[in-house]
Amino acid sequence: MLYRVIDATEIPQLVQAFMDSYEVVAPVQSDQGYVFSPIESPDDVVLNYVTTISSPKKYILPSEEDLLRFNAQTNEVTDYEEHITPRVLFGVHACDINALNRLDLVFKDCERPDPYYVARRRSTLVVGVSCVPGPNCFCRVWGSDEARFGYDLFLSKIGDSYLVSISSVEAANILEASCHPRLATDDERFAFRQAARHRQESFNHDIPKIQDVALLMDAFHDDPFWEELGSKCLSCTACSAVCPSCFCFDLVDELDPDGVGGSRRRVWDSCTSPQFAQVTGGYNFRATPCDRVRHRMYHKLNGFLATHDRMLCVGCGRCVMACKADINPIKVLKFFEEKGADRDE
Ligand code: SF4
Ligand code: SF4
Repeated sequence: MLYRVIDATEIPQLVQAFMDSYEVVAPVQSDQGYVFSPIESPDDVVLNYVTTISSPKKYILPSEEDLLRFNAQTNEVTDYEEHITPRVLFGVHACDINALNRLDLVFKDCERPDPYYVARRRSTLVVGVSCVPGPNCFCRVWGSDEARFGYDLFLSKIGDSYLVSISSVEAANILEASCHPRLATDDERFAFRQAARHRQESFNHDIPKIQDVALLMDAFHDDPFWEELGSKCLSCTACSAVCPSCFCFDLVDELDPDGVGGSRRRVWDSCTSPQFAQVTGGYNFRATPCDRVRHRMYHKLNGFLATHDRMLCVGCGRCVMACKADINPIKVLKFFEEKGADRDE
């Protein structure tokens, strides 16, 4: 990994250089909070945000997309030609980069890669930025508080400068052409260390750092806790909508008004939706809110770990804010703490 330092005043030049060749999506201020949105000017970018309402996931895995076209009379099928926009996701936090890395395991680095996802991921540059955690952030519990890969540049704030980790030639060339990257001085290396320590100390230490969560999930599978938690669920699916790592989808065939042509669409779905596990004949494998909430937590904190060797939840805290019924992974961690599970401090 190559490291260089740039002045914070050079960030607008860097953004503008990306804008010259790509659509740039970055955190901007909206009425409700911060959101990832295409920008029109480098001045739109806010890098000192705590979190955005939803993640930048939709720019790689859109909430709705056509997969193929069909003719219902002739049964002809035509592959949909995706028009990919070369894009830069600018100002992405480590948790969201780690979430994209998890989506890669599902859609890209797998036995049958998804061509739509792969095409978008390959034409997207990711520029990460360091953050100071908010009260609902618990990425450190899962080790998602640092991004070790999955980005092209990563900007770590050190005073009036940024230490830039460089991991792609494409982004390095743009950095070189638009800024004056220089070697870090010893003082800047020390400042980086201090900033990392300050960040660690800023996490909400009331959120329990429990060891072996997956094992505990199995041990407490039938505890009344799940009924209590599930009974509050409104089935609104807001948790999945804001989550950077949820990837469940439905396939829907939509006929054109002429009743002849049509398209097969992929649309986001959610395991907390009452119909999610309903099959032909009407049987529902997860008929109760308890079943659904427990399933969601198990997939996040147990099942994905078993198959992909890492938690699906990256601890971004968005569902903590989005869920009106106060159902989230922190609740699960606190439940284990009440049960006397060891703290790892
Ligand atoms: S489950 Fe909640 S905290 Fe975990 S990644 Fe999804 S939105 Fe973030
Ligand atoms: S867990 Fe919360 S956000 Fe998710 S569906 Fe239930 S009420 Fe909605």
